[in-house]
Amino acid sequence: MIPTTADFYDETGRCARWLGAIHGNADPETLRAFDSGRLMLEATDPTTFADAVLDLLDVFTQQNLGQGHHPRDGWPWSWPDSRSTDWIYLFDRGRAWVITGRIWSYAMPRVDHPPQRPAATGHAPPGPDRKVRQHMPDLLDLSAPRPQCPDCEVAIGQPHVEGCDVARCLRTGLQRLSCEHEHDCGKDTWSGRWPGETDCERLGWMIGPGLPDLNRLLTEATWNPATQQWDAVS
Ligand SMILES: [Zn+2]
Ligand SMILES: [Zn+2]
Repeated sequence: MIPTTADFYDETGRCARWLGAIHGNADPETLRAFDSGRLMLEATDPTTFADAVLDLLDVFTQQNLGQGHHPRDGWPWSWPDSRSTDWIYLFDRGRAWVITGRIWSYAMPRVDHPPQRPAATGHAPPGPDRKVRQHMPDLLDLSAPRPQCPDCEVAIGQPHVEGCDVARCLRTGLQRLSCEHEHDCGKDTWSGRWPGETDCERLGWMIGPGLPDLNRLLTEATWNPATQQWDAVS
């Protein structure tokens, strides 16, 4: 198994607190095999979630699954934020969510407040009470339609404004903002759902209940510009 990385947060948005990280077998299926991992994924309150994460960081190292990183040890990655982390586990609105850094990158290319990584030599790591704040999109309640686009705030059925992070290129199915093709990317509209969610549900590609596997969609499916849907490659 290729080692993967994970970051943990206690909520979304600008107040998200980084709870730690792991490097190793960081995927949800592996973590679910442990009491603390299952407790984390099934938590219904933020305290249980945060406590389970703390346990998991230790258990993860003890079980030789990889390395757990507590916040007191500082930010462990060579990258400045979770956009390059493989998995993001977070608690928001009464449940745990699993998203991938790749999707986050797709969702939100800009970060306002990346945490400072301590230099390799010299500086001491941040103190234990330092809160690493991330600019996480408030986009993660995948089960309920949102009346407005989380970025450009247009209503359902309305075309995203130019420069919206959420808008897809209708030719490629990928983020319009980062589309470099010399073509007309079309006028994607806000559907009330995050791009790709309904495709995951249709294809049955779910990490768990209410958790569309958007990463699988982007790696295994093909965009059909005629139907505006992702299709499984047969
Ligand atoms: Zn928009
Ligand atoms: Zn395009």
